[in-house]
Amino acid sequence: MAFTFTQSERAAQKVLFECGLQDPTEVGLRKLILGRKAFYDEQPMTGKDGDIVSYSNRSIITVNSRIAFDTRKRFAAAHELGHYEMHRYLRPVFGDTEYDLLNWYRGGPHEIEANEFAAELLMPTEVFHSECKSKGKLEPKLIDHLANRFQVSKTSAILKFVKRGNYPSMAVFCKDNKMKWWKKSEDFYNFLDFTRDSPPPPTTVAAEIFSGKKAYTGDAAKQDIWKSDWFEMKSNEQDSRFFEYCMVIQSYNSTLSLIWGK
Ligand SMILES: [Zn+2]
Repeated sequence: MAFTFTQSERAAQKVLFECGLQDPTEVGLRKLILGRKAFYDEQPMTGKDGDIVSYSNRSIITVNSRIAFDTRKRFAAAHELGHYEMHRYLRPVFGDTEYDLLNWYRGGPHEIEANEFAAELLMPTEVFHSECKSKGKLEPKLIDHLANRFQVSKTSAILKFVKRGNYPSMAVFCKDNKMKWWKKSEDFYNFLDFTRDSPPPPTTVAAEIFSGKKAYTGDAAKQDIWKSDWFEMKSNEQDSRFFEYCMVIQSYNSTLSLIWGK
């Protein structure tokens, strides 16, 4: 499969190549960052996951030591390394909250680039794609597997899957019962009439969660749905079975739905 990479993805690939790494889980990010001649530190921070401060050719990346999950620490470190590799001469200081990682569309181009860099650094496309192919069908446990395999959160694994996985799918992020953004595979052709800040369609799993009608014991559930639950149907089109795997991110009153055809 031939992929077209963005500049940020190519910057991450360059770092892996120059470090002689095929698989980023082979080395701790602290080492990788030191190898790129930046400093890495962990400190208790308030309201931030990480930041980077650069002055006279020195850069210090700090990641919040209070972050409970290693996957989130890794993503924060990789994101800050992205600012270091691509932006340190443009702007001397970046500070990032986890909130920004989910609300990337509000952060502006540098935040999008740093997230793209982090996703490619932690989940290199070629390795990710062949991992998906070797595991077969798209199922919640594939997402679990990818998250473990690449030491990333399930959210990061879902976003990468939509972009570089091996099955047409779409991800929709909702907050406070409003659709905030969506991303889909290039080969996912179903049309969602999406208006930012409108509520998700009423019969979707995401809508049921916000209405309080559905409570899940775990943090996520895969449900059988109809295509028409999410998508606009052509006039003579027959409805078909779809799946929605909806992750609840309770601390942000948010959901991330992964949607695909049966
Ligand atoms: Zn940032």
